Amino acid sequence: MKIILHGPPACGKGSQGQKLSEYLHIPLISTGALLRNLSQSHPRYAENKKIMGAGDLSPDDLVADVLRDAIEKLDTSNGYILDGYGRNLTQLKLYEPPVDAAIYINIPEEETLRRITGRRMCAADGKIYNIFTLPPEELSKCVGPMTQRDDDKEEVVKERLKVYKESTFPVVEYYKAKGILTEVNGTGTPEEVFELIKQALKI
Ligand code: AMP
Repeated sequence: MKIILHGPPACGKGSQGQKLSEYLHIPLISTGALLRNLSQSHPRYAENKKIMGAGDLSPDDLVADVLRDAIEKLDTSNGYILDGYGRNLTQLKLYEPPVDAAIYINIPEEETLRRITGRRMCAADGKIYNIFTLPPEELSKCVGPMTQRDDDKEEVVKERLKVYKESTFPVVEYYKAKGILTEVNGTGTPEEVFELIKQALKI
């Protein structure tokens, strides 16, 4: 089965993709991972490294080419799970990967904000905590000062949400119009969300 995962920032796509890949024994193809691991011999390696280093999105044509190559090279005879592709409709126009089912893991905007702006890293042990979701006794185990990444700050997350709504959500609507999209509630535990995804895919 060829599956594509969509959803707003911090909806849990990455971890659900991993779970699905293990469950179905099919590859997880994440454009973020493909772009991070772009070969140094790739003609656009330096250009892309600079863009990603600045926290910007990679060029649409590069992402489309990189995904097409990965799909052609991997053994996809039993299908695959795509994560991160289709940040906008232009990408689908450049290359539309074959897809049987699209899963839209939906969480409300407040939940995206809570999950991202609550993230803190302990300067002493490097562990990631969430001040909103972690029980206080766990938080108190952290000995060092807590730091917040600049791109986890509220203004930055609100901007990401705006870009998501304007550019990426139309891709979700595109799959809906094709009749292959199922929306699942992403607010539960990872295990609960995984069950909903399995039900949606009838697997
Ligand atoms: P992710 O692992 O999905 O968070 O993606 C990490 C980074 O990879 C993003 O911040 C972008 O720079 C780049 N990236 C991943 N997928 C895409 C895409 N479909 N279009 C453009 N850039 C992407």
